[in-house]
Amino acid sequence: MPCPTFETLIDFADNQLTPEAASSVETHVGTGCASCRTTIDWFSGFAAAASTDLVEPPVWLTRKAVALFAQRQKEGIVSKLSRLVASLAFDSLAGSASPDFVPARSAAVGGRQLLFTASPFDVDLLVSPGDAPRTVAVSGQVLATDSVEFAIVSGLEVEFIRDEKKVASAVTSDFGEFSVDSIAPGCYDVRISDNTREIVLSGAPIEIR
Ligand SMILES: [Zn+2]
Repeated sequence: MPCPTFETLIDFADNQLTPEAASSVETHVGTGCASCRTTIDWFSGFAAAASTDLVEPPVWLTRKAVALFAQRQKEGIVSKLSRLVASLAFDSLAGSASPDFVPARSAAVGGRQLLFTASPFDVDLLVSPGDAPRTVAVSGQVLATDSVEFAIVSGLEVEFIRDEKKVASAVTSDFGEFSVDSIAPGCYDVRISDNTREIVLSGAPIEIR
């Protein structure tokens, strides 16, 4: 009897042959054909490894996923993983950039109200004359539009940066409120951050024209 085909030997090892065909292969191998015996043994080893793989991938993937998740968390804490660049949605001196936005606070008298959005946050700024001559005071509030994020608005550092220098800073209250006083009027980058994210109000017009 000639050697069975490779496919037949594989099917034999995989118990996919009819009893008659399997019996034929058994007879052939029983005659001492080393080549066919090697093929069958190879496949048996491969099948065992493959069946192990079939069990292992979920475990392996789970471990990898856990490791990746841990790494991401670590990176998120070490670096500012989430950076939100806010856009100006309302300026009481310029008119609303979008008529859909209703300011969270009533319009200030003698001041300037700015509303920045960086979903899921809104940042409300009220610019008013400062205590010292030719200065302005800013009070503001970080509002979470998504209730899930609400807790995050407290304890955020708020930095007023001008010409790459930190001019003033504050920390938000439990309600996301903050204020600074007596800073020079001008365009500021307002950076609001904690360990995991930062919201940047780029070029905020902290001045009353
Ligand atoms: Zn053979």
